[in-house]
Amino acid sequence: MNQSIANAVLDRSATVNTSRPATARSATRTVIVSNRVPAPAEQGATAGGLAVALADAATPGSLWFGWSGKRAAETSTTAEITLGDGDVTFATIDIADREYQRFYNGFSNGALWPLFHFRTGLLRFNRPDYEAYRTVNRIYAQALIPLLQPGDLIWIHDYQLMTMAAELRELGVTNRIGFFLHIPFVPPALLAVLPTAAELLAGMAACDVVGFQTEGDRAAFLDNAIALLNVKPDRDGKFYHDRRTVHAVVTPIGIDAKQFEQDAVLAEQTAEAQRLDESLGDRALVLGVDRLDYSKGLPQRFDAFGRLLYAYPQHRRCVNYLQIAARSRQEVSSYQTLRRELDRRAGDINGEFSDFDWVPLRYMTHPVKRSAIAGFYRRANIGLVTPLRDGMNLVAKEYVAAQHAENPGVLVLSRFAGAADELTEALIVNPFDADEVAGAMHQALVMPLAERKLRHDALLAKVRATTAQKFCETFIAYLRDPKKS
Ligand code: ADP
Repeated sequence: MNQSIANAVLDRSATVNTSRPATARSATRTVIVSNRVPAPAEQGATAGGLAVALADAATPGSLWFGWSGKRAAETSTTAEITLGDGDVTFATIDIADREYQRFYNGFSNGALWPLFHFRTGLLRFNRPDYEAYRTVNRIYAQALIPLLQPGDLIWIHDYQLMTMAAELRELGVTNRIGFFLHIPFVPPALLAVLPTAAELLAGMAACDVVGFQTEGDRAAFLDNAIALLNVKPDRDGKFYHDRRTVHAVVTPIGIDAKQFEQDAVLAEQTAEAQRLDESLGDRALVLGVDRLDYSKGLPQRFDAFGRLLYAYPQHRRCVNYLQIAARSRQEVSSYQTLRRELDRRAGDINGEFSDFDWVPLRYMTHPVKRSAIAGFYRRANIGLVTPLRDGMNLVAKEYVAAQHAENPGVLVLSRFAGAADELTEALIVNPFDADEVAGAMHQALVMPLAERKLRHDALLAKVRATTAQKFCETFIAYLRDPKKS
């Protein structure tokens, strides 16, 4: 499970129900499978969100299975069980360091991630990495089987585990299985770049329900299924393959909007938010919050900010751009290259436009507390969310939820983020076009209050409607109900 589900679906304070035993048996228990399961220390704080979302979706006694986060000398084939505080039981396995490198840094993040974000130039494919990916998926399946009960609904998350369902079927599992892809999917011409495309697709087609963030992703999956599996999907996105009906659905992920709105009000009072506000004085704030990842379009975003200062000189000295870019996947070389690239561009912009008492671009790569980030969103006049390609992008939704209803900021959003399908009242831009993004920033900075409120009201209603809770409920409803599927 990637960062987005960890933070969006799971990021709710733990209010787990301790009255029900964690081992409670239920005919429709949900078994969540993700690459990473929170460590016991994290479970109270972060796992509560999924626990609560699933409990509310009427899935008592859920099991959450995945990697412990520990790289061991040997991969464990038997899961270690930890009882959560209430409704969720956690089951984890350790993975051998060497295997993990190849499975995670190698195939998952060195091949699948760039390809699914349309960056074939960054794709590094090699057989040993792919074999390790298959092996880890098989080990997940083998370790899960002893924990399964008849009637369990199995819900596998994300691109690290695309072949696990096929392994489960191979081992005789007949339970209903769902798979949700948190990142974008690619059309046949791009998927074909991967020598093992057919196996990955067969892995997805071993499920009863396959979920995507957007209609475009689902359409791409169906096109691939036609091309590689020789199937004929109907209008509902269902096709028959290998003695099973596979249903491709769209269930966009969201945040816990109500909670985030409340957190943002409190976050305004944090020392960090106060210090940021004091440092800005009367100046407007443009804010970017991302993992340091090439899919986020950060070099292009820096250039667009440079264009704003160049083409609209009235904003010089009146605006600051703060980019928080949390370091991630530092073991993958393309991430190291990106970091150097951003250091250079930030220096170029500040070198060109800084004054003795004003530095336009603030760029930081160390972590900021999530509680403070909500306060930063609230202070920001512009939420600058311009990925080159993104499954959903939860920062866009968090930014909307954090705004003052009476004086909201403006969301500038890439058309290539999944969120753009829903958040149409944002200023939608092409992140490759620095002039267009600069123009949108200018438009946002001069936008009258009435228009800002109108746009924000509409956006907030949407963010409140497509929550993490809704995401879980909708997907599980498809998974539970064979007729619906
Ligand atoms: P991705 O899953 O690709 O990282 P998303 O925008 O969907 O992108 O989710 C990112 C999540 O991580 C959001 O909840 C956001 O608040 C959080 N996040 C992003 N950058 C940081 C950061 N620098 N510090 C803390 N949290 C961050």
